[in-house]
Amino acid sequence: MSQTQPANDRKYPHVQQKSQLTKTEARPAHVELVPTPHAVNVEEVARALHAHPSRGLDGSSATQLIEHHGYNELQEKPTEPAWKRLARQFNDLTIWILIGAAVISAIVGEWIDCLVILAIVLLNGLMGFLQEDRAGRALLALQKLTAPKSRVIREGMLIEVPARELVPGDRVEIEAGDLVPADLRLVHSAGLRVLEAALTGESVPVDKDHRPTLHETTPLAERQNMAYMGTAVDAGKAGGIVVATGMGTQLGQIAGMLDQYEAEPTPLQRRLNRLGKMLAIAVGVIAAIIFTLQLARGGKPINVLLLSISLAVAAAPEGLPAVITIALALGLQRMARRNALIRRLPSVETLGSVTVICSDKTGTLTRNEMTVREIVVGSGHFDVTGSGYAPVGEFHKRDSSRRNHGIAVDATREPDLWQALTVAAWCNHAVVAPVGSRDNWGVIGDPTEGALVVAALKAGIPKANSAHELGDELPFDSQRKTMSVLACTPAGLTILTKGAPEVILDMCSGELCGGSIHPLTASRRKQLLELSSELAGRALRVLALAYRGLPEGAPARIEESDLILAGMVGMMDPPREEAKVAVHKCHTAGVRPVMITGDHPQTALAIARELGIAGANSIVMSGLELERLSDQALAEVVDNVSVYARVSPEQKLRIVRALKARGHIVAMTGDGVNDAPAVKAADIGIAMGITGTDVTKQVSDMVLTDDNFSSIVAAVEEGRGIYENIQKFVHYLLASNTSEVLLMFCAALVGWPAPLLAIQILWINLITDGLPALALGVEPTEPGVMSRPPRRPSEPIISLRRGLIMLWQGGLIAAVTATAFAIMYRQSEARLPVARTAAFCTIAFAQLFFAFGCRSRTVVMPKLGYFSNPQLLGAILVGALVQTALILLPATRHLLKAAPLTAGGWVLVLGLALLPVTFVELPKLIWPLVRTHVQPAVAPKASFK
Ligand code: ATP
Repeated sequence: MSQTQPANDRKYPHVQQKSQLTKTEARPAHVELVPTPHAVNVEEVARALHAHPSRGLDGSSATQLIEHHGYNELQEKPTEPAWKRLARQFNDLTIWILIGAAVISAIVGEWIDCLVILAIVLLNGLMGFLQEDRAGRALLALQKLTAPKSRVIREGMLIEVPARELVPGDRVEIEAGDLVPADLRLVHSAGLRVLEAALTGESVPVDKDHRPTLHETTPLAERQNMAYMGTAVDAGKAGGIVVATGMGTQLGQIAGMLDQYEAEPTPLQRRLNRLGKMLAIAVGVIAAIIFTLQLARGGKPINVLLLSISLAVAAAPEGLPAVITIALALGLQRMARRNALIRRLPSVETLGSVTVICSDKTGTLTRNEMTVREIVVGSGHFDVTGSGYAPVGEFHKRDSSRRNHGIAVDATREPDLWQALTVAAWCNHAVVAPVGSRDNWGVIGDPTEGALVVAALKAGIPKANSAHELGDELPFDSQRKTMSVLACTPAGLTILTKGAPEVILDMCSGELCGGSIHPLTASRRKQLLELSSELAGRALRVLALAYRGLPEGAPARIEESDLILAGMVGMMDPPREEAKVAVHKCHTAGVRPVMITGDHPQTALAIARELGIAGANSIVMSGLELERLSDQALAEVVDNVSVYARVSPEQKLRIVRALKARGHIVAMTGDGVNDAPAVKAADIGIAMGITGTDVTKQVSDMVLTDDNFSSIVAAVEEGRGIYENIQKFVHYLLASNTSEVLLMFCAALVGWPAPLLAIQILWINLITDGLPALALGVEPTEPGVMSRPPRRPSEPIISLRRGLIMLWQGGLIAAVTATAFAIMYRQSEARLPVARTAAFCTIAFAQLFFAFGCRSRTVVMPKLGYFSNPQLLGAILVGALVQTALILLPATRHLLKAAPLTAGGWVLVLGLALLPVTFVELPKLIWPLVRTHVQPAVAPKASFK
């Protein structure tokens, strides 16, 4: 539950004040639903549900009703039980091969081998299950974070509750961009249009009206006095009583049960699965060659067979998909902590390739804390003092000689100022109130409107109250850039309008000047437009205010024409400090930030310059200019424009397409319902968590919980980090597995006995493929990720260069292991068990230590911090201790067919095992020294096309 707002707020005129309420009557713990709510009037529906059409329910009866009627959600199909998920882990080709190997061992009487293989199979399955479970839970938790909220009136107060907590009888408010949270019988409506495609398949929005009572048999698609769960509000606003929830709604009855959330495999996962399969085939072929060679050398057939099978199983990277899922899921949690909720897994990969971030201005790049600074009316230019939302300040009038500048005036003696502020206060839904202490005031609603309320309060003008009841309304819409209400004032019914100056001026025919109305001439209009540009050039957001009284008997309808201009206000909205830092980060990361705003071009440019998005010579493109360009012409200039102003949502879509046509990977923010197509078309569609509409959130790939530009950049950084981590553990796993294959293959080629036994290979696979690989997946993002250019989406996860490095590193591990084996073996069959034990320990330790070297491609361990990845440290320590204990304890040593090592043997093993990681780390130390002496540092390219 978040904000609360008195329900008598003008936004919801049908709701009485809390103080006027009668005491809530006792309600039963459950209610009988109305079978055909569209066929009865609102009062009857309310009576049947024991609800109040304006005051809503009280909190305690809502809680009781949840108990009886259940949560307002479509039930999910039952989840797969844990035992089935566990059993699924064993339904895998490699596991069947291993079980086959265990059975063969048992048949030939190798009981120890059989048991050890089965134990390893069990441990493997268990680890897979735990990893899958953890990843699943992490994804589910993230999904819950994005659960929709709903505005509901309870006990006369407008509050926000999770949509799942709605009950029959609740009084819900909906507006453009909302998803209808339950089935509603409308109580009031203003220009409501609903997109019902989800329910009826109708692709055109349908008009709704609360007034008619329909016939019982009216088909679903024609019930205009109802709004149904899952449909989307396209325009207008309305209030309604919940008549059905969850599975009882029309959607619940039609859709039946929801499938469990299942993460689709990402392109990267698919590519890696393919790579895994290819490697498995390659390893299978090599294992077959080793089998033939060892057999020819006179090896015992059963042992050689087991060895080849184990090698094939161990070296095939079958653990990859599970580790990737968990790395992605944990990465998503990290992003969520940085205020970016990812709704689709593949977006994590795309984030790392983003080359352009298109962002709204208001609230995302600026603080969205508006303060009216200047007001221009017919009789003069006023400066407004005071800061924040506290309604304390003065009006200072300027005059041409500037004699009065700096001297406070009494607003009640300035009729033009008074009228302008009255329009500002009444054509308004925001509420300002003290938060906590008396000096700290906050706004509930749109901050632009909050600033107007505060300015009016400074003059002593309160918001409209019940004596000045508001009637019809044309809500604000970023396409029209205006908002109008019909108010019942002492002078009679009056249209009050506010919006972008150029739009309002076109609607005006007169201007209020010194208390009387003058015609608005073309030259005065031009003068006012220049003035508005001048205000905007000083980074002020400008709104014009206008009105028109309706003659008695005229229809109570809003027509935005023939208005009288009351004045213009200029308000300040400072840029976010953290956005400046984030813009700088974008530049170093080769990502171009672009501002796309509905605001005035001059305001946009001034703020963009302050933030560093635009330079001194940058130009701004307005929606009008954009409109004149063909798609091709737009694509030609799109690389040079960083600020777009007075842009409509459709034009945002064109900008996304033009950027994509130039080969860019585009992230685009949006909040309003009309932004949804652009958000959907972008490679990364970003919705605002606070101000965004449900519809935009639904089509987005990512939701910002703080509406802040810097969170987008943080997400790009994390996205790059996650991708690099995936590369790191894939590198680690493949290089380690390569070392095993190379060792066994070369030994077979030179005619050595197998340096490792089947169960030893399986064991190494268990301790290295599991925990260390996972820990590399949660490596903290490297400091340098934002100094590199974006990754090309087509770039392979294992480039040729990386593949060669892996081969070299795998070769190093194989070489030190072979050395340990050769030193101990000395061509004496009697020393074979000791030599194998030395090889077994050397390769296990070498692989564990090598994980340290995989933490970064360029930065050495001490610089990264020894303890900055405690999971990896823990995994390596545990692996090393278990390995040592296995050899030291006679029972386990016997199980693994190992022999005891002397102190000298241990020193040799450890010394050799440290060599590969040393060889991996040394170039990272030496290379920067060479580079600074040989070539200057290279800045990343701005972007690629
Ligand atoms: P951004 O797209 O960066 O969020 P914005 O908030 O300025 O920019 P819109 O909300 O589309 O964009 O506003 C466009 C213009 O409409 C504003 O410059 C202002 O003149 C006018 N405007 C904004 N809010 C209101 C409102 N509540 N009522 C009337 N007019 C408004």
